[in-house]
Amino acid sequence: MSKTFQAVKGMNDCLPTDSPVWQYLEGCLREVVAGYGYQEIRTPIVENTQLFCRSIGEVTDIVEKEMYTFVDKGEDSLTMRPEGTASTVRAGIEHGLLYNQQQRLWYMGPMFRREKPQKGRYRQFHQFGVETFGYPGPDIDAELIALSARLWQKLGFDDKVELQINSLGSNQAREAYKQVLIEYFQTNLSQLDEDSQRRLKSNPLRILDSKNPEMVELIDNAPKFSEHLDQESAAHFTGLCEKLELLGIRYTVNPTLVRGLDYYNRTVFEWVTTELGAQGTICAGGRYDGLVAQLGGQATQGCGFAMGLERIILLLEQQSDFKSKLSASVDVYICGLGEKAEAFSIQYAEKLRNKAPSVKVQLHCGGGNFKKQLKKADRSGAKVALIFGEDEVNAQSVAVKFLRENKPQEMLTAQSVLESIGELLG
Ligand code: ATP
Ligand code: MG
Repeated sequence: MSKTFQAVKGMNDCLPTDSPVWQYLEGCLREVVAGYGYQEIRTPIVENTQLFCRSIGEVTDIVEKEMYTFVDKGEDSLTMRPEGTASTVRAGIEHGLLYNQQQRLWYMGPMFRREKPQKGRYRQFHQFGVETFGYPGPDIDAELIALSARLWQKLGFDDKVELQINSLGSNQAREAYKQVLIEYFQTNLSQLDEDSQRRLKSNPLRILDSKNPEMVELIDNAPKFSEHLDQESAAHFTGLCEKLELLGIRYTVNPTLVRGLDYYNRTVFEWVTTELGAQGTICAGGRYDGLVAQLGGQATQGCGFAMGLERIILLLEQQSDFKSKLSASVDVYICGLGEKAEAFSIQYAEKLRNKAPSVKVQLHCGGGNFKKQLKKADRSGAKVALIFGEDEVNAQSVAVKFLRENKPQEMLTAQSVLESIGELLG
């Protein structure tokens, strides 16, 4: 026997039994962003490596350890996108969407990071994200948070997530704060792990982002950025807090929240849950006012977030009634017994699809007796089976069997079922 293959570690198949929950979530996401007037952008999965190094930052987990990078036939260094913001900014600059304009955009798709696979952490995972450009004030920050809060409400787990916010201030204030941090950590050098010692000089903010449990206390006691915040950023932050209060959105200020990517300034936020163990962040984002200029465009403000869809699905699947939210893949199952009925039913199925395009019609294929066909009908999840035998065809009628209700079978004319399928399905 020849060797069988397995998917690459940390990269998952989405099987037919998994796809209904993905489709449900994707539908909810599309509905929510449409309600805020956002437009979709789709960018390639592969970009020039330098795009990610220059935006995410050389001294970050993603760029140092997690990127899938390859040399394309001895020429360019390319990378499978680890996140969506850099690509969106690149496309925005390249196609003139950002200069002197405002944009509210969204995207959805697979991202790639070479991490240690575990529950809620994969090597191919999926993000939904929004990015806005050309909005300086905290009104847009608040809108992004309101949009995500609306999604949790729609998905039914708004009571399981908490919003944490912080401000990273201006570039200047951050540089000054970095010096303060370096001094603090230098006096506690022996408590820093290897990564953090290496990053101390180049990127001390990353140390605050460490997930090493042995450094929790050290990080908690570190000097807080709020004491070094510049005036304008402080006003921006107060403005955001006021708007969240207007909207009735509860939040916690987390002074050690810095995010794992270098491009953020001012507002950063995360939605976290205690229901998923260590992988508790389901959505994260903030402001990146310097990124467009940093990637060669005319300076303009940016603000966005990304959410991890696998983690959201884990939360959805914890709900006892989540299956009832998913739509069945088949509504009507059509059986044909014998040659004459088979010929009739294949045409009838097409007629039904013409009449009722939103109804999901599955035609029995492969012959077989009544019992076998009904078994398939039941397994399909359909509500109703339409059964044709030779007698029915001769009489232009059909037997209607209700598969999920305790109702007697009915004999109706084939034509009337075409007209009233919606009512039959309830
Ligand atoms: P984490 O702290 O969990 O590593 P992160 O800060 O690296 O997350 P971001 O780059 O901000 O994550 O990405 C936004 C969201 O994407 C995360 O909050 C999470 O929900 C999801 N995410 C990130 N990495 C993964 C992964 N490897 N597998 C599944 N989801 C992920
Ligand atoms: Mg990470």
